[in-house]
Amino acid sequence: MLTFQQSSRLAAGLTPTLLALCLLTSCQEPAEPDRSPARSTTEETAVSGKIERRVASAVVIDGDTIELPGGERVRYLGVDTPEEGAPFHAEAARRNAELVAAGDLLLVREHSDTDRYSRLLRHVWIKAADGERVLVGEALVREGLAKATPYPPDIGLASRLRLAETEAQIDRRGLWAGLELEAYYLGSSDKFHRPDCASARSIRRATRFDTRQAATESGRRPARCCNP
Ligand SMILES: [Zn+2]
Repeated sequence: MLTFQQSSRLAAGLTPTLLALCLLTSCQEPAEPDRSPARSTTEETAVSGKIERRVASAVVIDGDTIELPGGERVRYLGVDTPEEGAPFHAEAARRNAELVAAGDLLLVREHSDTDRYSRLLRHVWIKAADGERVLVGEALVREGLAKATPYPPDIGLASRLRLAETEAQIDRRGLWAGLELEAYYLGSSDKFHRPDCASARSIRRATRFDTRQAATESGRRPARCCNP
């Protein structure tokens, strides 16, 4: 993960063009969002979906929310970053800003349009320095700064995000720094526990999982009592 100094250097290294773009979009009247249709199917393959909109730049609100030129807010699909006051809240927001600064954002919609706060629910892809498309939410999950949080019906990329989360957990990155893995886990119908948890022992027919990944993949959530 980048240190704060490295991040600052990265931010300071933004190209003049990019800065000019940011200035343009924020100083003029709200620009009409680019609703031009996708330019190539290759690009749509790269972002695993139909490109709804292309945006030159955006302002980061927090780890999983950005604001488009014109004021619409976008909440990333399938991920959740720490709330204000929680550990890694600031890191997630800072890293999100770094990623989004790459510009040329592609917005991909699944089924839902907006949430109850009228934020657009979208996958947001940036163009990395090497030209590859990067899913911002996935990058945050892989670095341990966001959790994979599938909310039906928008679960088209859920397994991809879960894989990134497993990677972060194995390497104990960010949020997972203190994660202690068990030899096995015990599941009730909707949750899973550490094997020595008292509540786990009272489950009538517990399902045994050999790995934490297998437990989460079954759709069960970590129980609050033992926070496995
Ligand atoms: Zn428990």
